[in-house]
Amino acid sequence: MGAYRALYIHIPFCKQRCGYCDFTTEARAQDDPALDAYLDELLRAVRSASRNGELGSAESIYIGGGTPTHLGHKRLVNLVYTLSLSLNLHDDTEFTVEANPESLTAPLVRDLFALGVNRFSIGVQSFDDRELAALGRVHDAQQARAAVEIVRERCENISLDLMCGIPLQTPGSWEQSLATALATGVNHVSVYPLSIEEGTPLVGFAVDEDIQATMMEDAAAMLGAAGLERYEVASYARPGFACRHNTAYWTGLAYLGLGKGAHGMRMTAEGRERLVDGAVQELLTFPEAAAEDLMLGMRRAQGVSLEQVAAASTLLPNMQQAFEQALDRGLVRVSNGRYQPTDLGWLNGNELYSTIWDARS
Ligand code: SF4
Repeated sequence: MGAYRALYIHIPFCKQRCGYCDFTTEARAQDDPALDAYLDELLRAVRSASRNGELGSAESIYIGGGTPTHLGHKRLVNLVYTLSLSLNLHDDTEFTVEANPESLTAPLVRDLFALGVNRFSIGVQSFDDRELAALGRVHDAQQARAAVEIVRERCENISLDLMCGIPLQTPGSWEQSLATALATGVNHVSVYPLSIEEGTPLVGFAVDEDIQATMMEDAAAMLGAAGLERYEVASYARPGFACRHNTAYWTGLAYLGLGKGAHGMRMTAEGRERLVDGAVQELLTFPEAAAEDLMLGMRRAQGVSLEQVAAASTLLPNMQQAFEQALDRGLVRVSNGRYQPTDLGWLNGNELYSTIWDARS
């Protein structure tokens, strides 16, 4: 089995299920024995992957969820300790733990940091208590601010997630949430428009996509003015703080997913395999993988080089024309020998990505 460049570990537990969430997770009390059983199985999977030589090339590790910090101090430290024994952790290995404000404590940050965790991604979503309550989040804005303070005592690599287009939110309260995020001094912010999934409690809420588009533009302006550069459609960072783990996903590096519902990707002699729970769900042929690389590349500010499009066009005869169409529609521009998304391309990402993906055949 080949070595993976990135490792994702999924923790499918939360204190309470948020009103919009359709992720692989379930609400469980922290003293539920199911958490111990899950951790036990996860530790075995980590050791097995290590014995099989699958982890030696991992340059980034990401423990996500769900709510990893809901595992509690002892279990999460145990997991990170096992990972530290199973991987070649270097100073430049990016090791992220997702955290929610209600379950992040100073001793936990201290111990995770000591074991090699060097990036925390905090699920904040909003700094407005009424909006947080409407989303069904279990924390308030004060807890979110306190969580950032706790992490900042040890670690400068902090990301916040914020969400726009949520119930009760106004343009003013959105700007206030952005301003508060900036005032915390974090170096990375991810901004997502709320999307309502079937079967979730918020299903009756009507998302206004025009308002969301305006809010995404406001975010780009405010974060950019404060020095957080947009490097991906939803991601902003100060120089040197772009997420290397997510960049691995967008640049076609093989990654291993461990835990319930975790996704993975690897290249084989047949093409690109996408896995869920360790089982192959989808096989992309090499031409399809080349189309996917271009599509994912256009999520990023730096886009893709003209040479990459020309090379892919030898496998995909319609690809060059697809980029020219995107150019004509103002979704992309050519700059320094690269196709890059324009502001219109950022706003109409689905149109841009489907134009590229549809050119695979
Ligand atoms: S904390 Fe995150 S994963 Fe858990 S229910 Fe809320 S949105 Fe879903």
